[in-house]
Amino acid sequence: MSRTQLARARDGEITDAMERVAERENRDPAFVREQVAAGQAVIPANHDHAALDPMIIGREFATKVNANIGNSETTSDLDGELRKLHTAVHYGADTVMDLSTGDDLDEIRRANVEHSPVPIGTVPIYEAVKRAGGAAELTHELLLDVIEKQAEQGVDYMTIHAGVRMEHLPLTDGRTTGIVSRGGSILAQWMEENGMQNPLYAKFEEICEIFREHDVTVSLGDGLRPGCLADAGDEAQFAELETLGELTRVAWDRDVQVMVEGPGHVPLDDVADNVERQQEVCDGAPFYLLGPLVTDVAPGYDHITSAIGATEAARAGAAMLCYVTPKEHLGLPEAEDVRDGLAAYRIAAHAGDVAAGLPGARDWDDALSAARYDFDWRRQFDLALDPERARAYHDQTLPGDNYKEARFCSMCGVEFCSMRIDQDARDVADGEMDAIDGATDLESSAAAEVNLPPTGTHDMSRVPDLPEAVSPDHDHATESGEADD
Ligand code: SF4
Repeated sequence: MSRTQLARARDGEITDAMERVAERENRDPAFVREQVAAGQAVIPANHDHAALDPMIIGREFATKVNANIGNSETTSDLDGELRKLHTAVHYGADTVMDLSTGDDLDEIRRANVEHSPVPIGTVPIYEAVKRAGGAAELTHELLLDVIEKQAEQGVDYMTIHAGVRMEHLPLTDGRTTGIVSRGGSILAQWMEENGMQNPLYAKFEEICEIFREHDVTVSLGDGLRPGCLADAGDEAQFAELETLGELTRVAWDRDVQVMVEGPGHVPLDDVADNVERQQEVCDGAPFYLLGPLVTDVAPGYDHITSAIGATEAARAGAAMLCYVTPKEHLGLPEAEDVRDGLAAYRIAAHAGDVAAGLPGARDWDDALSAARYDFDWRRQFDLALDPERARAYHDQTLPGDNYKEARFCSMCGVEFCSMRIDQDARDVADGEMDAIDGATDLESSAAAEVNLPPTGTHDMSRVPDLPEAVSPDHDHATESGEADD
């Protein structure tokens, strides 16, 4: 039987995946092994995911961003899902969760695993409910069957809402928005109708045996996460967290890699406390947060309200952030929403890493700032988090090739360009420029490939191919430079 990254790390082995991760993060492979062995980081890498380029999730490494894709009863098919995968990786997703609940689930999941260079995550209870014909009809056997099948298909990590227990349900009675997690609400219904304990909790050890065999990372779902500020930090949320801590240790005892999911909706001043509390209760297992949204009042802009919370979470030690799109609470996201959500979250992750002092994180900022001060427009576009948008916005007003050499842009204009004025003044005063010189070497930066060019947006070789006849969701016109100049 193949062994998990955790088991091998505990035995002192530095695996190929650890070597690759160390290369991507510009860290010592021995440090990567130590972090995995201690359970402080995970490398989601199913033995049967051949296309995977291994990555790591842990607070000592660059904060990662997950994008959710998936069909529903009414929208999308296989080609549509592959297009979404392509779009998500194109705009820099570090992992992708397939949350499909419509038709062709097996076909879509297999295709995603086959094409994806990033880890694929799922929530198996969705398929189990569909097969059972309703939440109340779920059985222990069916749940285990679905989990095992998805593990065999090469899924790298699965959300398992095992922490929602019968005794927690009354704690949600006074909530403003009740139970908002899909998995949590399904399991609550099952427990109430069947009068039995959560089957994922009851069968957790057997689930761990499946995960150990395939090296599936368990992502312990927060089925009782608060759905609004009024419910944030309530008894139900923290009672479940205690159970997640218990389950973390059960999984570790079986050599299963673990991360723990977190809220949701949290006031800004409580975000760091939430991260610290999870780290304490779950013995430092990586924390994977959805947002959190720091206010409830901005439907249509929840990529922003949640990116504010996500930035603080990343600064405080969150390991991965699940993106939120502008369509949150309103509808299924489309390609442009995926782009906006990923941009917001990559900014949050990077800003958190800079503030937390992650080695090398600020090199990217310094390189872009140097290009900006040098009026090296092409390099500024290349270094931008979303090069296509930066180039397009610049070219809206100054499209000509000559403006790529200009010492101004249309924002202040030629006469009032402060950087040009500053440089001219320095030239006069010193006889020569005394400015940042653009010498930051990104190749040797400690964050060489993570959240930096050429990951995601910048390295097209990592973006999965689409079958012929399937056009991408996003417009590639500017990628090849056709719209440049
Ligand atoms: S014109 Fe203004 S915004 Fe544009 S480069 Fe100069 S200082 Fe920056």
